[in-house]
Amino acid sequence: MAWFKKDKKPIEPPVDKSRVPEGLWVKCPSCGQIIYNKDLSSSLSVCTKCAHHFRLTASERLKSLFDGEWIEYDQGLRSTDPLSFTDTKPYRKRLESSIAGTGLKDAVITATGKIEGIRCSVAAMEYGFIGGSMGVVVGEKITRAIERALAERLPVIIVSCSGGARMMEGALSLMQMAKISAALARLDRARLPYISVLTDPTTGGVTASFAMLGDVNIAEPKALIGFAGPRVIEQTIRQKLPEGFQRSEFLLEHGMLDMVVDRREMKGVIAKFLRFSGIPVAAPTALPAAAPAAPARPDQPEPGS
Ligand SMILES: [Zn+2]
Repeated sequence: MAWFKKDKKPIEPPVDKSRVPEGLWVKCPSCGQIIYNKDLSSSLSVCTKCAHHFRLTASERLKSLFDGEWIEYDQGLRSTDPLSFTDTKPYRKRLESSIAGTGLKDAVITATGKIEGIRCSVAAMEYGFIGGSMGVVVGEKITRAIERALAERLPVIIVSCSGGARMMEGALSLMQMAKISAALARLDRARLPYISVLTDPTTGGVTASFAMLGDVNIAEPKALIGFAGPRVIEQTIRQKLPEGFQRSEFLLEHGMLDMVVDRREMKGVIAKFLRFSGIPVAAPTALPAAAPAAPARPDQPEPGS
């Protein structure tokens, strides 16, 4: 008997059913309700009947959190394909098609803006870009977002939506876990708050590093959160996993999360924690900027939309 019988099959990208499909009407995959697309966008892509959370893009996420305009940073950073990696198709080609599909250069948007009047440094991950995987660019952009917060004394919010480390960048992508975690440790020493928001899905190296390091870890309802996937665990331990395993509510019950919050209340809850942390609320006119000016950076911030 051969030890390795498995025939080589190309890895199929998962079909993304959770994103709101194009068109005038949308069928909720959870309750089957037919929803008018415009109603859905006004409810932050949450089904009004059963509260199913459709996945948001990184820019939709920022829009749902910030009061208004935001400033985006490091838009130009892109991967150089350091390993010249090829699986079923060259990594370079995957990058090109993701850039064309999402309009982003990599799987995260980092920005500063105000949440209920409090200036924050926010990073939102984009699942549509190679499964929101964390490569060197994601690692660098998030690290810079934290360092920007340190320089300007801002709280940090990272919204995770990721399949984990980007295998096409090998060990270089794993190093990002340590790099971001080290930056977060500096943020902690500077007594600045970090709120981690975990959305569906948050798995692999992202869960194993910054997504679980928040002063407060908040998840969206029914989000898949874990390190290895349920199928891999089942095959390894040869046991059936309990109902709802690796979902937000299960993790909350077992002490892995602090809260599960509906997306429509997320901004208010984050703002409440920020006020609680004692970060000064920058009133537009009354309060002069107490924070020292940020050092000049080579990247030019451009206003977001
Ligand atoms: Zn529904």
